[in-house]
Amino acid sequence: MTMGGSDERKDIVIIGGGIIGCATAYYLTRHPSYDPKKHRIVVVEATRVAGGASGKAGGLLAVWAYPSNIVPLSFRLHQDLALEHGGEDRWGYRRVSCGNLEAHGRKRSELEGLGAAPGFSLGKRAGETRKGGKAWSGTGLPKDLDWILPELVQGYEEMGGSRETAQVHPYYFTMSLMDLAKASGAELVIGSVTKINYADVSSPASTPPPAIDRSGNKSPSTSSLSSSTSSSRSRRKAESVTYTDKETSRSVTVPASHVVLAAGPWTARLFPAAPITGLRAHSVTITPAGPVSGYALFTEISIPSPTEVGYRGPVSPEIYARPNNEIYVCGEGDMEVEVPETTADVEVDESRCDDLIAQVSSISDHIRLGRVTRKQACYLPVLNIGGSGGPLIGETGVDGLYMASGHSCWGINNAPATGLLLSEMIFDGKAKSADIRQLDPRRIL
Ligand SMILES: Cc1cc2nc3c(=O)[nH]c(=O)nc-3n(C[C@H](O)[C@H](O)[C@H](O)COP(=O)(O)OP(=O)(O)OC[C@H]3O[C@@H](n4cnc5c(N)ncnc54)[C@H](O)[C@@H]3O)c2cc1C
Repeated sequence: MTMGGSDERKDIVIIGGGIIGCATAYYLTRHPSYDPKKHRIVVVEATRVAGGASGKAGGLLAVWAYPSNIVPLSFRLHQDLALEHGGEDRWGYRRVSCGNLEAHGRKRSELEGLGAAPGFSLGKRAGETRKGGKAWSGTGLPKDLDWILPELVQGYEEMGGSRETAQVHPYYFTMSLMDLAKASGAELVIGSVTKINYADVSSPASTPPPAIDRSGNKSPSTSSLSSSTSSSRSRRKAESVTYTDKETSRSVTVPASHVVLAAGPWTARLFPAAPITGLRAHSVTITPAGPVSGYALFTEISIPSPTEVGYRGPVSPEIYARPNNEIYVCGEGDMEVEVPETTADVEVDESRCDDLIAQVSSISDHIRLGRVTRKQACYLPVLNIGGSGGPLIGETGVDGLYMASGHSCWGINNAPATGLLLSEMIFDGKAKSADIRQLDPRRIL
């Protein structure tokens, strides 16, 4: 049952201070029905805002990202946010070119001993997601992509020009949305949610959520069965949220008419029915030896073999040049270490970071001669059921409990649309700006 209606007081608790929780808080404070004197918005974050993937992602935005029912909206909202709040200066928003680069790496001696551990693609460059790219241009790189050594390039394919692709610095973007939400009345609490508390409510049977099985097929019989009965049935309703305050270690319970579960890879720890888990991915940041033009590159680099006979690989690091004279590089995902207790406990395998540095150094002197500033790892929130790419956005079947999680490799891109749509669900009773029935968590919960 939707807890819509903009008249009654709302106590909204958002669990998770990643980009999804912060964007939701931001758009709730921007909703025309939001009144800070009447409504309360509390973001409860376990460790620190943007401490997980939201502060360690690449930050690429693309019109050809997925899912297509929210991407166009979100891409536009990113531009609106940047214009309204000075995003260019504040979080490095800019339009950027994007391409597929195929190259042979060099400097075999530097690369000796690198393991070619099998990895999981983060999924951003799935062939089917690319739209309207130009044909391979042979070995010809765009002229201004002069920080990649041209003699090593096997091919370059444009995936997006300034109309299709943009970027933000995810950490600053997330922090800024939280700050803007706070400036408009939202509260931030640093504490770990231990429990969502529910009340049993009995009421006449209401129209059930769309009954769709895991394969996506609607069950024709369910709605007719339910609508023909007038008996009452028992339901659960979110009532409050209990967290352990980080500073005082005290357990605190806050009332909640609406709970938004935006805990990324940790979502299932609080709501076990959520089919969401985490995929670890490493990344590094580098201050290049000289200025670099704005490009986001998906690569396929054949690494020289340790035996000096031919090439092996390829490896596929993603390379993003950022406006603050920073190069960000991320690698494939791995399932070697389970999602830890908190973002602060994420294990960084330094050798994986060193592999990334060696791989990208092998095709760029700007990188090779640059300075490594950060080696890090984080977890992407991914759906662990086949046939659905996520995210899951909307009601859960428990009154007042909403989910916004499983954004996989496009959470930065899709956060503004997610936040806006949730604000509509909470204040207007339904999503208005996009048709997101396909993302309804009740389809699979
Ligand atoms: C290497 C890499 C590169 C990426 N590149 C891009 C990109 O270029 N473009 C793009 O669009 N996306 C990208 N992504 C994806 C993007 O980072 C994620 O989809 C997004 O950050 C998910 O945000 P979130 O808020 O759902 O999760 P998170 O950022 O994980 O935030 C969840 C928060 O919930 C908190 N939390 C957990 N449990 C509790 C609890 N019990 N109580 C309170 N708080 C809790 C955590 O501390 C955490 O801060 C990338 C991801 C990775 C890993």
